[in-house]
Amino acid sequence: MGFEGLLGQETAKGFLSSVLKSNRIAHAYLFWGPSGVGKTFAAKLFFLNLLPNSCGACLECKVCKKVLMEEHPDLFMLAPLKKELGIEPIRQLRKDVQYPPFEAPIRMIVIQSAERMTKEASNAFLKTLEEPSSHNIFVLEAQHKKGILPTILSRCQWVRFRPLRPQEIREFLVREKGLDPEKASVISHLANGSLKLALHLLDTSASDERLRYFYSHMEMLKKEKGEILSASHGLVQELQLKEDGLVGFLYLIQTWYRDLLVTRLGIETELLVNRDFSTQIKARSSGFDPTALMEAVLEIERARQELMGEVNPNLVFGDLMLGLKERLNV
Ligand SMILES: [Zn+2]
Repeated sequence: MGFEGLLGQETAKGFLSSVLKSNRIAHAYLFWGPSGVGKTFAAKLFFLNLLPNSCGACLECKVCKKVLMEEHPDLFMLAPLKKELGIEPIRQLRKDVQYPPFEAPIRMIVIQSAERMTKEASNAFLKTLEEPSSHNIFVLEAQHKKGILPTILSRCQWVRFRPLRPQEIREFLVREKGLDPEKASVISHLANGSLKLALHLLDTSASDERLRYFYSHMEMLKKEKGEILSASHGLVQELQLKEDGLVGFLYLIQTWYRDLLVTRLGIETELLVNRDFSTQIKARSSGFDPTALMEAVLEIERARQELMGEVNPNLVFGDLMLGLKERLNV
């Protein structure tokens, strides 16, 4: 009932529950915090709880399933197609929200990665916010507030989402995915507070991508300095098209270095993140110095943290690749 299905996020849950209880629903909310921690799921639960004769977000009934599958006609989901969210979808949205909702007395419009709206799109969206209608509720999702117009921010109620605690992720993996506690513990500590990343690691269909990323990365390191920089520049362009593309990539190669280190030290392969590739990892690990592997893991971690801030990704990424080449002596 309510927000029980949402993992962690006690503050956000408490706030949204009090909003429902008081029945003072704002016109627009900003759900902000790192990706993969439940912002979209929370918006869906919020919508379900706002419906009359609500089942209390049981997650089992027909209406709940429609909302979860994003098939409810009064739940609009909008996300950037590529790097940015441009003017066209916002123009269309401005037209669509002028009509009454189809089934429910209210309509919820969820805008994902709202910080990636172009200036033009932001200004158009601001006009919509300035003309509140009783049946439209906007939920903007963003990883951070920078990049969102102050005039938009000031018209939203802010709801903060935090990285999940490893323990929360671990318990979820054991309870919902049937993982044994030890494996769940390893994944939970590597998931960087994101349930999405934790689930991604469990997804074997993602394993080809992991292998391809790591091998192409190793090939890149073998090149000359100038070539490495231009190759990493190209990779940055490609990865930036995906949400979390860059940080996600670094995360993946970090798990490989971590696995190489764990294997090099002779620790049980059961604890590998990429354990589906334990044979390849074992074959490669002997060629590396454990200290260099450890430093590689730490260096990638530093780069990941830096990329969360306002930095030039080409510089951070290029420096990291050159640093790894030197350390690993490839
Ligand atoms: Zn239900």
